[in-house]
Amino acid sequence: MFNYSEANLESLNNDLDNTLEECKKLVENIKSSTSVNLNDFNDLESTVYDVSGRIAFLGDVHPEEKIRDFGNEADSKIQNFALEIFNDDDLYKKYNEIDISDADKESIEFHKDLGIDFKNAGHGLSDESRNRLIEIDKRLIELGIAFSENIAKDKTELRFSEVELSGLSKNELNNLKKDEEKFIITMAYPDVNAISENCNVRNTREIVWKAFNNRAVEDNIPILKEAVLLRNEKSKLFGFETWAEYRLQNRMAKNPKNVDAMYKDLIPKLQKAAEKEKKDLVIDDIEITDISPWDIRYFISSKRSKTSNIENSELKKYFFIHDVKNEMFKVCEEVFDLEIKSESNETAWHEDVELWSLWEKNGEQLAYFYLDLYPREGKFTHAAVFDISSGGSDRQELPICSMVANFPNPNTGDGLMTFDEVETLFHEFGHVLHNGIGKSKYTRFVGANCEWDFVEAPSQIMEHWVWKVECLKRISKHIETSEPLSEQLCKKLNESKNIGVSLLALRQVSFGLADQHMHGENFNDDLLQIEQASQVVTNIAYPKDTNHLAAFGHLLGGYDAAYYGYLWAEIIGDDLFSRFENEGVLSNSVGVDYKNKILKPGGTIPAENMVESFLGRKWDDEAFLFQKNLLI
Ligand SMILES: [Zn+2]
Repeated sequence: MFNYSEANLESLNNDLDNTLEECKKLVENIKSSTSVNLNDFNDLESTVYDVSGRIAFLGDVHPEEKIRDFGNEADSKIQNFALEIFNDDDLYKKYNEIDISDADKESIEFHKDLGIDFKNAGHGLSDESRNRLIEIDKRLIELGIAFSENIAKDKTELRFSEVELSGLSKNELNNLKKDEEKFIITMAYPDVNAISENCNVRNTREIVWKAFNNRAVEDNIPILKEAVLLRNEKSKLFGFETWAEYRLQNRMAKNPKNVDAMYKDLIPKLQKAAEKEKKDLVIDDIEITDISPWDIRYFISSKRSKTSNIENSELKKYFFIHDVKNEMFKVCEEVFDLEIKSESNETAWHEDVELWSLWEKNGEQLAYFYLDLYPREGKFTHAAVFDISSGGSDRQELPICSMVANFPNPNTGDGLMTFDEVETLFHEFGHVLHNGIGKSKYTRFVGANCEWDFVEAPSQIMEHWVWKVECLKRISKHIETSEPLSEQLCKKLNESKNIGVSLLALRQVSFGLADQHMHGENFNDDLLQIEQASQVVTNIAYPKDTNHLAAFGHLLGGYDAAYYGYLWAEIIGDDLFSRFENEGVLSNSVGVDYKNKILKPGGTIPAENMVESFLGRKWDDEAFLFQKNLLI
């Protein structure tokens, strides 16, 4: 296994140079071979994939800035190299010589996918179009890296007195950095979450909300604008009208019309429920007509604690991160017939990072995964799972991925998670399982390498367990008394589950609409105008002086024209969970069926077919509406 703890600039530089050389040799071998097959292309692909996991990945997580910078530079080099592979005319000739007359389904899919990549690289275009395409692709890679760097580099810090932070618990205050008499609110999630959910000073919430939603605005708006224009130009080179059409051709949704249809169907149902929710939520003498974006999470959090009859600060005491994580592992072991074992973390990039191995129960080892759970200076600021290696090579036999998150650190603070954070942990662990269990002989279809609008379904489904009494009682353990949440508290929490659910969903819908708007036929519209147009759907008045699109990392992080996928996948994830709902939340037989039919195939089978095989019918949105109490 690659040893991240020993990585330094020199070793990484050598590794990058050597691996790119190795890849060039693989390319030359293919070109001079008289019997090329798909495995040759797979070797090339897995070598590129893994070097990215060894080096580019460090741009998001390494504690040293110079190594993060190197990782980001390497990311750009590797992506460029990968593009050049598909540009190569001689390689394309060799691809066309591959005989697939006796190939199995998986190989036929891989062959087809490679063909699309070659076509997308410009084979079949005029020389002029092709040269322009290369320029566009290179520029888009540069823009993508700069965009996420600018978000991570935003060091906005706000200073408040204790009075201005009224509503925060003692623990939350203790977790904040201090500067003489003032508390410092950084743009890290634990700080921002504490304010937006618990601070009862409206003005403080407003200041923090605006700062957070205006991160990197000056630097990133021009970058985003350029990317949007280039994407549209690129889609036209291939005969598509819009980037969304180009991007959706290989997705479950297939085209933007199907995405629109999903939104058109759901929006009125959500809006109707949201109007009622607003009335139920308003507190602190705020007028309904005057509800601002920075009130919503505060209202919801307050109503939730009233309904569940427990304060957030008290609820957190039941969710010490290591206890939650260990019990989550046990639940997954039982439901999915797995074993999860702790490994020495001596290969990790930071002492706080954990290494675990994933096994079939009483069987073979499937994968490794790292958990990098706590915030650090310069680290990736969201929660996500990164593929490090697809396995199956001499260098790395088993797949490896890493969860990268920003949960409260038990080594420097109390390590107590909010309920939302517990949900996030389960969600991300769904990605880990998908990464670790998905099998294919081709790197391209291993683990979570499936249709992109399906990839969130195996993570969305995991969030359900957090709420189910059978699981909730197990993952909760009071930090002082070791007691689990009482049955009654679990029920109360569930009563609070859907509070404000439509308001929150509409905010997500607005993100998806903005994404579709800028990648649709009106791509030329001003970005602030796009932001504001998308907010109309929420029925909440947004301020005119913020533009969160600048800090919306998804837009240049691979989710362009694809953010809708979260909702799409949530609908599917809810439908998948309906079998657990009906046959037993912790049912091992459903769990194993789910593992075999949904997780194991990775990207080898179209998601539509996997889902139908697991459900025994086509998927629909009934379970989604049921979960949110929106069934009429
Ligand atoms: Zn996810």
